[in-house]
Amino acid sequence: MRTPIVAGNWKMHKTVGDTVKFVKEFRSVVKDVTGVEIVIAPPFIAVHAAVEAARNSNIGVSAQDLYWERQGAFTGEVSAAMIAEAGAEYVIIGHSERRTLFGETDAMVNKKVAAAFGAGLTPIVCIGETLDQRERNETYAVLDRQIKGGLDGVTADQLAQLVVAYEPVWAIGTGRNATPAQAGEAHAHIRKRLQGWFGADAADRCHVIYGGSVKPDNIAELVRHPDVDGALVGGASLEVGAFAEIVFRTRA
Ligand code: PEP
Repeated sequence: MRTPIVAGNWKMHKTVGDTVKFVKEFRSVVKDVTGVEIVIAPPFIAVHAAVEAARNSNIGVSAQDLYWERQGAFTGEVSAAMIAEAGAEYVIIGHSERRTLFGETDAMVNKKVAAAFGAGLTPIVCIGETLDQRERNETYAVLDRQIKGGLDGVTADQLAQLVVAYEPVWAIGTGRNATPAQAGEAHAHIRKRLQGWFGADAADRCHVIYGGSVKPDNIAELVRHPDVDGALVGGASLEVGAFAEIVFRTRA
């Protein structure tokens, strides 16, 4: 039985001060929530402050990216060990904005996944097709390629701890979410592939969450599908009320 996960990806929003204010308010709203893993992913600079503000609460903290080397002359980059030392437990890898705007490839995603496991972080690995690819009926081929390339070398034990975020690119930040049927079909396909490549036990323990214009009014229907194990939420995670509502409706 997989406990659903609701993770808020703040992207390049909120300062350290904004982060602390959010967490102080949010933690009291969700303090009695059980049966859902709650995660927030602030910008790097606010990760440590988020960890401190969330201490002794039911909120975990994620980074939004990492670099695979341990240390060195990589100006602007942050390593997995640095993120872990700051107290985060999760890291988002391969978000479509990283792939599209910063040229991230499946090979790079793969190195980042290995680095995350090396530092004891739980990777939240994003995959998803563009609108063009969906319209050309390439959705499953794209997902297969991203899973195979991104998770190459991952062991069955590691897969069981990993989170896959299915995020159709055409649904991110567009207000146009996948229908529960579209999301369910894609998630079932991903689970089937994971079963084939990593074995049924690991695949059944791996979380596959949905992302793409998740809001309080569409989350309940999305998570009703047995293969949808929660959500990666962008815009709606920036407001305490909306994000808390998504958490509540995921549990229901
Ligand atoms: C995201 O950034 O991962 C995302 C799904 O964004 P939004 O919820 O705003 O579509």
